[in-house]
Amino acid sequence: MNVEELFRRYLEQRREMGESELVLDTLTVDEVLRIVGAHGKRAPAQRPVAPPSASDWRQALRDADAEVAAPIARIPPADIPIAPPGPPAPSAPSAPRLTTTRLSAIAPSGLVVGGGEAELFGGPIGRAATLGEIAEMVRTCTRCPLYATAINPVPGEGSPTAQLMCIGEAPGATEDETGRPFVGQAGKLLTDILRAIKLSREEVFIANVMKHRPPGNRNPTPDEITACSPYLLRQVELIRPKVILALGTFAAQTLLDTKVAIGKLRGSLHWYHGTPLIATYHPAALLRNPGWKKPTWEDVKLVRRILDSVAA
Ligand code: URA
Repeated sequence: MNVEELFRRYLEQRREMGESELVLDTLTVDEVLRIVGAHGKRAPAQRPVAPPSASDWRQALRDADAEVAAPIARIPPADIPIAPPGPPAPSAPSAPRLTTTRLSAIAPSGLVVGGGEAELFGGPIGRAATLGEIAEMVRTCTRCPLYATAINPVPGEGSPTAQLMCIGEAPGATEDETGRPFVGQAGKLLTDILRAIKLSREEVFIANVMKHRPPGNRNPTPDEITACSPYLLRQVELIRPKVILALGTFAAQTLLDTKVAIGKLRGSLHWYHGTPLIATYHPAALLRNPGWKKPTWEDVKLVRRILDSVAA
């Protein structure tokens, strides 16, 4: 199939889904620019990386539309290694981890939280040397009142060398009973989603922002989130995944420190303390809204592409 045909079908699909914003996740910038008729040479490799706004594909398209014959100097070539946008990390050890990967063509730039690695925090949780130590700390945690009503702590599970971390909101009833994350209905769907991108549960690390179940699945309070967050941060720091998949509004908004709706957060490449982060709908929400399965599939394909890009 030629690229125009692919592009046309893609746009038709988007329109059928009621979307008006473009998320061009299967085409390279060069292909899109060719389609929209922009000419000009690719920028030379030594050209400085463009500011974050210019690396947004939607902006690239707007620019191409506005100046069809203009050179594409403001668009970073897809093969320039990029660093996460945003302020530079304060010192050498906190330089972002993925400066050598080629992620600029995968998704539009999104939010940036934190700088690079090794900047998180001190204290006993920050000094935990293994995931097992963290799990033990969670088991005896009294940092917020949720431990008193929960049956079991749910610290998270999976590979300590996982390339992908899936992060949900908080344990539900089944997770509370078993002490394992995402084992209820939503968990089964998550397992299927992972399988669709050729990953098993054992290969990834699955965790939640909250390590104890809030009673009746109520929303965690800001104090509870603050108390629990260091565990997740330390898990991220120890695992150093290549990409984080934030599942649902709560996880995405908490990790990205924003109130922006999940429908707007999904489809972009965000950065969480130097790690690429893709946000998507929560599997439980997919069970209620099957129409969101398609965009979720688009999001997890981005995850696959990031992993493939890092592997390359
Ligand atoms: N929902 C979540 O966010 N996490 C779980 O572990 C289960 C359901």
